[in-house]
Amino acid sequence: MPELTRYHCGFCDADLTGAPIPKASILKGYYPDGVTHYSQLIGVEYPYGHAERYDGVSENMCPACGVRVGRWSGKVLTNGECEPRYGVDLSVSA
Ligand SMILES: [Zn+2]
Repeated sequence: MPELTRYHCGFCDADLTGAPIPKASILKGYYPDGVTHYSQLIGVEYPYGHAERYDGVSENMCPACGVRVGRWSGKVLTNGECEPRYGVDLSVSA
């Protein structure tokens, strides 16, 4: 199963490395150790009113091929499909 990561899309082999982060920002400790470049990975947050609204990124998307991968499930999302909050469909009770 290909992977969509911060700096690479395993689905279309796109390099998602962005522009270099200014040295001053790195020196101020704004980024984790070893991080030198921004990423072109798109983090998708669902809007208010959305059934699976979460205050943060719910899915990641490749800007080159458009593949969408759920943040928690790691599952490839098809057209019209969305990532349930925390990757779990809570509407189904045990
Ligand atoms: Zn891609």
